[in-house]
Amino acid sequence: MSPRPSALPQPLYVLLDEAAKDYGHRPAISFLGARITYAELATLVDRAAAGFARLGLGKGTRVGLCLPNCPAFVIAYFGVLKAGGTVVNFNPLYAPKELEQQIADAGVSTMVTTDLTLIYPKLNALLGEAGLERLVVARMADMLPPVKRLLFPLLKRGETVAVPDDGRHVLFRQLLDNDGSFTPPAIEPEIDLAALQYTGGTTGVSKGAMLTHANLVANTEQVFACIPDPRMGAERTLTVLPLFHVFGMTAAMNLGIRLAAELVLVPRFDAADIVRIIARQRPTLFPGVPTIYTAISSAVEKQPADLSSIRYCISGGAPLPADVRARFEALTGCRLAEGYGLSECSPVVCVNPLDGGARDGSVGRPVRDTVLEFRPVDDPGRPAKPGERGELCVRGPQVMRGYWQRDEENAVLFPGGALRTGDIGYQDEDGFVYLVDRIKDMILCGGYNVYPRTIEEALHQHPAILEVIAVGFPHPYRGQSPKAFVVFREGETATPEALRAFLKDYLSPIEMPDEIIVRDSLPKTMVGKLSKKDLLAEVAVETGTPAPMTAAEG
Ligand code: AMP
Repeated sequence: MSPRPSALPQPLYVLLDEAAKDYGHRPAISFLGARITYAELATLVDRAAAGFARLGLGKGTRVGLCLPNCPAFVIAYFGVLKAGGTVVNFNPLYAPKELEQQIADAGVSTMVTTDLTLIYPKLNALLGEAGLERLVVARMADMLPPVKRLLFPLLKRGETVAVPDDGRHVLFRQLLDNDGSFTPPAIEPEIDLAALQYTGGTTGVSKGAMLTHANLVANTEQVFACIPDPRMGAERTLTVLPLFHVFGMTAAMNLGIRLAAELVLVPRFDAADIVRIIARQRPTLFPGVPTIYTAISSAVEKQPADLSSIRYCISGGAPLPADVRARFEALTGCRLAEGYGLSECSPVVCVNPLDGGARDGSVGRPVRDTVLEFRPVDDPGRPAKPGERGELCVRGPQVMRGYWQRDEENAVLFPGGALRTGDIGYQDEDGFVYLVDRIKDMILCGGYNVYPRTIEEALHQHPAILEVIAVGFPHPYRGQSPKAFVVFREGETATPEALRAFLKDYLSPIEMPDEIIVRDSLPKTMVGKLSKKDLLAEVAVETGTPAPMTAAEG
């Protein structure tokens, strides 16, 4: 099965139409026991598109989705696209202020959400603010299979709220209440935006990456081409990465639909639950972030389980420490390969070979049609020499058009045509890419650049360490100095002195952390990446000092 030719930009929803045409009877979604086939999904999407059009949404309208992983996400996503609109993904756990800022920046007047107590009241309170005029609400009970649908309101009272029946609310059920006859407006795939994907970018302010239909189709095909033996209509994708995050959107949902795979939608991450779901539903593909694989390994260590259905796991979003990969592969028998990407690139840029030959410490080789340049941080005018470190710049069909309404930034973001990523790395003679760190995370220590990742990797060599974050803190003489925060594996421990003695073999004195602080846990972003930003905020509260500057995180 070969990927489609690269030069074929098309509307993103064509992926779903084609899956429905050829594999209509196959399951498209399973969610807490409810099943939807591809034929049913395509019909629901047509109805959603017709429903959005009736609400007056169409070409160029930006529609918000603020949903956990659930069928309404997939239906609304493709319905918005088919109606000609642009999806704006919102993290449902955002604080009201963050939601408000993003609503205003993107110009979202309609938001699709759910009746969960954790999410709905925040959005309801914003109705009439920042341009938000209407909520389309998918009720959790409506998405469950018949028996659970009846029991849910009884068992989970308090988890959902009643939705008012007024002009500012539309039930998702009502949106879909039509015959689906609808002619989609013409789409120019290389110009029309499929998604505005908000990200911390490289400066710390959340900005919308403008991803066209062609960008997202290209990236789906690029990742598809990395799968050694894709089985159309027969894969099952464990979809635990949140779909509002670009990695879940492309590597779980869009790739899954390209494969006519069954999307096993999981709304909330809990390692023990995931292990049970794998044993029962036997997924074959499992994209994730390193902390997810760490948690699964710990769960399987406690309670052995059969995970042998999984053929490929792709880890992205954050560095995958070699010990995390080795432990996961040894415990589960699954193959785990690291990739690299960013919201601005739809997101996938590099992937290690999935059929063996993955290199520890490398994020793999560029996906097809992707050209990388490395530009030395202190001399960006010239390309880095082979093996020399530099800022990674990307050209390829998956690279965004720019940030939404940020003309000044966009003017300097593509020097010579390639996107600046803000990540520092180098490439070996076989084309494998190694990331050193992010420019914004670099610690400036007495005139030297110290990369927190070097410290983190060194600590990961110690058998007691489960998770680690290294960050720079202000220092009276050196400007900044590194500190490391560590979490031990269950039943393991070591003193900070012993850890420092261990690190002497791996780190120079400049890189040696001033302090090693032991914690029970480390904060994570919604997608599961270790969060430096939240850690610094915690430290600021604990010490009563302002948090050092760090960028927003995805
Ligand atoms: P986001 O746009 O939120 O997906 O974040 C993208 C950023 O995550 C990139 O610019 C990198 O700094 C980081 N990242 C993604 N994948 C990796 C990886 N495999 N190793 C290290 N950092 C990564």
